[in-house]
Amino acid sequence: SFKKSLGQNFLIDQNILNKIVAAAELDPSKGALEIGPGIGALTQQLAQAAGRVTAVEIDNRLIPILKDVLSENDNVEVVHGDVLKLDLAELIERQFKEMSGVSVVANLPYYVTTPILMKLLEEKLPLEHIVVMIQKEVAERMAAKPGGKAYGSLSVAVQYYCEPKLICTVPHTVFIPQPNVDSAVIKLSLRDKPPVDVKSESYFFRVVQASFAQRRKTITNNLGAFVGKEHREALIELLQGCGIDPARRGETLSLSEFAAVSDALLATGWSD
Ligand code: SAM
Repeated sequence: SFKKSLGQNFLIDQNILNKIVAAAELDPSKGALEIGPGIGALTQQLAQAAGRVTAVEIDNRLIPILKDVLSENDNVEVVHGDVLKLDLAELIERQFKEMSGVSVVANLPYYVTTPILMKLLEEKLPLEHIVVMIQKEVAERMAAKPGGKAYGSLSVAVQYYCEPKLICTVPHTVFIPQPNVDSAVIKLSLRDKPPVDVKSESYFFRVVQASFAQRRKTITNNLGAFVGKEHREALIELLQGCGIDPARRGETLSLSEFAAVSDALLATGWSD
């Protein structure tokens, strides 16, 4: 039986599996870290393409099935655990020492997509690509450019660390059981360094969060709530000093505009 609570929707379409594996640019010198192998359909393809595969599965009922399905693949290791609780830096170091690069490839459980991806990115793991099947709407938010409804703090966070590329959309009919939402495969290629320079990353992300706190409000109103209403007039001047019309909404600001505002605000000490 499937565990809905663990986001268990198994992929049954060979064509989609091939697209996912191809997007990861694997070869025998590369490692693949899979999150949520389920019953091993993607794992088997990864074992063919990569030098080494480590697959982390939370559901103990699936472990014997995986061992059986993968018994012919001597380059695969199945790890029983919760990916959100594992020390992934240590796992990657231990499993992929001899590999020339490592990518995450997964059909993710949708109920924890964002926490898993933010963990992979914030821990600055030594990854080349993250190729994941996720809810289509979340993939669109990750890849969104400024100005649209889909653009938000998730877009900024993902694009700060990675270059996103939508690989394909996927109908719900290729899963057992079928999820209620449409899916997409997204490829996130990790940047060598962020596209913008900021004095404090954590402060930058706080400013971004605050800017999207209430989407219908202007950047002045959202950041006013963040720094304190008493600074409103000075905040308007600060935004203008950054070349930003105070009447704009957060969803129109680019990463470099957020970076400029973040550095300027940090220097004021208002939000200490
Ligand atoms: N990769 C398989 C496929 O494509 O058919 C299964 C994908 S299914 C969408 C998600 C899988 O992630 C399930 O096997 C589920 O048990 C597992 N899972 C859910 N939460 C997890 C977690 N926190 N850590 C590791 N695996 C998890």
